[in-house]
Amino acid sequence: MNGKNEKFNQSQKITSRNYKEARRSLFDTYPSKHLFNNHDKRVKEIRYCAICGRQLTRYRVKDNKYETIVKHFKLDNFDGFVPLSICWDVRYCGGHLRTKEKKEDLKNKEA
Ligand SMILES: [Zn+2]
Repeated sequence: MNGKNEKFNQSQKITSRNYKEARRSLFDTYPSKHLFNNHDKRVKEIRYCAICGRQLTRYRVKDNKYETIVKHFKLDNFDGFVPLSICWDVRYCGGHLRTKEKKEDLKNKEA
């Protein structure tokens, strides 16, 4: 998982070691991407990052709208794939995955 041309197999589990390849593979699969900035209100649903699972949008009860809480891309493909969302910055994914893995490690130790 270090060669530049290394192909990510999309059935693989995404971890803090292969997430960069996984992102590249998604960007290759989805030719169209739209950027959503923080506090963007064009969003109409709760979104999670397809790479790290971080929550990217939230619902605001006070004005009955959704808004972006993490800057992200929405990826679209015209061949019938479900649109995906993905953190804007690769470091967001890395950081979130490492935090999640640390928590899982702790849980496994306790079990
Ligand atoms: Zn992410």
